[in-house]
Amino acid sequence: MKLLFLFAMNVEAGPTIDGLQLIGPEELPSLPFRIYRGKTERDDDIVLLTSGVDPAYGVDNTGIVSAAAMLTAALFLFGKPDVVVNAGTAGGFAAAGSKIGDVYLGEDYVYHDHRIPIVGTDWPKKGIGGYRMEMPEKLKAMFPTATVTTGNSLDITVDEKALMLKLAQSCPLVKEMEAAAIAEICTGAGLPFIALKSITDIIDGNEVTGVEFMRNLEIASLRLQEALHELLKYLYPELVRQIRPGRNRDLTDKVLRLAEN
Ligand code: SAH
Repeated sequence: MKLLFLFAMNVEAGPTIDGLQLIGPEELPSLPFRIYRGKTERDDDIVLLTSGVDPAYGVDNTGIVSAAAMLTAALFLFGKPDVVVNAGTAGGFAAAGSKIGDVYLGEDYVYHDHRIPIVGTDWPKKGIGGYRMEMPEKLKAMFPTATVTTGNSLDITVDEKALMLKLAQSCPLVKEMEAAAIAEICTGAGLPFIALKSITDIIDGNEVTGVEFMRNLEIASLRLQEALHELLKYLYPELVRQIRPGRNRDLTDKVLRLAEN
């Protein structure tokens, strides 16, 4: 099989690059992404990309633009993989029982800051997205599943927080900055996609997110590498074929309803 791993941040990818003894980085002439390559124990091909660093400010290219561009570049450079894996960190909710270092398996994906309020049309739904990667029972037995809500900001507005707290009452919810964009492209391309998200900060806790995030980034990245290691043991073609990309219209409708009330 061909496995494509996508990471937003270098620190998140570090333990996995070391653990799998990947070779790199290779650089691209006009894109900031860094490429690492190697093999699994079963001889599957691994291509791992990190989104690289902002040339002006020296920080990682986090967020949906880099995530989408990194996946698109990888598809054109290396062809379609059998599965795309996005491993990263996320904010969790105490209301949903999340703790620092917990690792979730993504199943549903929405955007929380993609508002297109044109009444009487489907534009508001397009904004929410509502992508679903149905997960095999085997993986659901290994990791708790979550709805992943993606936006371009590490912090949160009052309205977004109110919406997420309502949503977190009915399903485990994690908030981050890349996965829905990857799910959107994978759904369009019919590509199986797995997201593993390790919790660095608790959104309904009482700490400043940026401080809590930086303090827990390293430990959460180690948890992520352990989870990826477990995942790789079971990532057979039969399992990957059970992942079905699609839409979750019910979730889209629910998010819109919650946002309006
Ligand atoms: N200070 C960091 C900021 C990175 S942005 C820097 O040096 O660049 C945060 C990254 O962690 C994103 O890739 C995002 O997907 C993830 N993340 C972790 N917790 C998050 C939260 N509460 N909200 C949004 N994204 C979060």
